Amino acid sequence: MKVAVYPGSFDPITNGHIYILQRALKVFDEVVVLVADNPNKKSRFTVEERVSMVKDAIKGIKGAKVDSTSGLTVDYANKIKSKHLVRGLRTVTDFKYEYNLADEYHKIDPTIDLVFFMADEKYSNISSSRVDELIHENKDIKNLVPESVVKMYKRGCKET
Ligand code: ADP
Repeated sequence: MKVAVYPGSFDPITNGHIYILQRALKVFDEVVVLVADNPNKKSRFTVEERVSMVKDAIKGIKGAKVDSTSGLTVDYANKIKSKHLVRGLRTVTDFKYEYNLADEYHKIDPTIDLVFFMADEKYSNISSSRVDELIHENKDIKNLVPESVVKMYKRGCKET
């Protein structure tokens, strides 16, 4: 069974992330969306909220799972015996960032491979921060994110 890990902040998960997950599931039997629990990085939603939004959003997507880690992504991948990390690419800026990230991961574990999927044109402008900006501008986000994210914002959990 081919298993991959899709690490990220998912703060919150967007339809752009879901698209990458679905592309990855054409290549891998199982993909674990790994929510980063990084106390040094300020997040809009708690790790529990982010995991809960992902859990709801991936219901019905065969092979998709969710977990979180406060440790290194590479350690998590090794723990579940996966050597593949999935990431998404939208722009040249993403490419530069991901190139450096791949380098860092390789320094920690040269046996890990990053596998990239290109953003769909429809979702290439979507980011978690853009979604948050739209919320603060009172704009509609329902076509950009799963229902669970709309609900979480409506509950007024974390507004900033
Ligand atoms: P991180 O803070 O680790 O970059 P993100 O949740 O912002 O976490 O993104 C996780 C991954 O998903 C990254 O590889 C990012 O480039 C990718 N990604 C984010 N939004 C999109 C999108 N709209 N289309 C394709 N890939 C995306």
